Amino acid sequence: AKVLLTGGSGFIAAHILDQLLAAGHSVVTTVRSAAKAAKIREAYLSQVASGDLVVAIVPELSRADAFDDLIKQTPGLEVVLHTASPFHFNFTDPQTALVDPAVTGTTSILHAISKYAPTVRRVVVTSSFAAILDEARTTDPATVFSEASWNPVTLADIHRSPATAYRLSKTLAERAAWDFVRDQGDKINFDLVTINPPMVFGPLAHPEHVGELERVNTSNQRVANLLRGGWKQEGGVPDVGVAWIWVDARDVAAAHVKAGLEVPETGGKRLFVTAGKYSNAELARIVRKHFPEYAELLPGEEALAAGEIPPEEKRYRYDNSATDKLLGIKYRSFEESIVDTVKSLKKIGA
Ligand code: NDP
Repeated sequence: AKVLLTGGSGFIAAHILDQLLAAGHSVVTTVRSAAKAAKIREAYLSQVASGDLVVAIVPELSRADAFDDLIKQTPGLEVVLHTASPFHFNFTDPQTALVDPAVTGTTSILHAISKYAPTVRRVVVTSSFAAILDEARTTDPATVFSEASWNPVTLADIHRSPATAYRLSKTLAERAAWDFVRDQGDKINFDLVTINPPMVFGPLAHPEHVGELERVNTSNQRVANLLRGGWKQEGGVPDVGVAWIWVDARDVAAAHVKAGLEVPETGGKRLFVTAGKYSNAELARIVRKHFPEYAELLPGEEALAAGEIPPEEKRYRYDNSATDKLLGIKYRSFEESIVDTVKSLKKIGA
């Protein structure tokens, strides 16, 4: 099928691109700059017939007409996977840095599809566990987060913390997507699926072509920091916070491909993809076990208590059985994911 994938330079999107091309789909992907476009083209030069991969430039998500020209110029699209959204904490103003591009990026692509791409039958939006969890209930063992849960965060909370601002951006963007399809009703030809992953680890797709250690994506920065000795100093083992469930990027990518192209029954659903619990202590132990070359840079066992997750009576529960039933993904283990993550970070100089 002919698929549009936004944010093709991203950590998760790179795996989606890989899987789409391997399955023989024809892909148009968007990036922000000519330099990034060139790197992606180079990575696939020898493997993919020209014409099966088009890399287009969409410079800024937070413009209401961001996707109009591209969608007008791309006839025959069947599926759209919208992954692009800011996930970083280098900002002073969370409204313009996170919320505007997240929300307007989502509404601009939905508007463009409804106006100019009647052939699109399904849109998959990458949301997050951030749009599911409730910061006030994460220590409550009676709380069960599931596909039905919504983060109650509002714009009034935007300055609570950078993490809250990110969660807000994801929550408002996902709400805007569901509101859009509800309001359009029969006027649109597509349905919507959202993918809501928690913390995502995993190797970089094509690290030797497109990876840069200095710019590694936010969720993998934790692993990069561990490898450079950042956890060794006192207080250096990070508290896992509230996102102590995780999933591998390759499994998140598979969920996008299944939802977009393979499992029609996912239409109208939020898909909460997770492989389960992990802790920063476990992360450090896996690196110690498999990569003795980093031994000197890792925290000692006694320091790892700070990286354990809260005891059962002080943490939420989750239930993603509805998603697992629909997708049937066999999730990679944390150990496999971290081993592959470290191997790929080594390739770019970790
Ligand atoms: P990346 O930072 O690697 O990817 C983000 C992508 O969005 C990049 O392609 C980036 O382009 C693009 N982007 C960001 N801001 C803008 C903007 N203002 N205008 C145009 N493009 C923009 O992160 P991930 O791959 O981890 O994230 C992909 C998606 O997955 C996001 O929607 C994120 O919220 C979601 N997610 C990620 C999780 C994780 O733990 N990694 C967990 C749950 C959800 P560029 O490369 O040019 O910066």
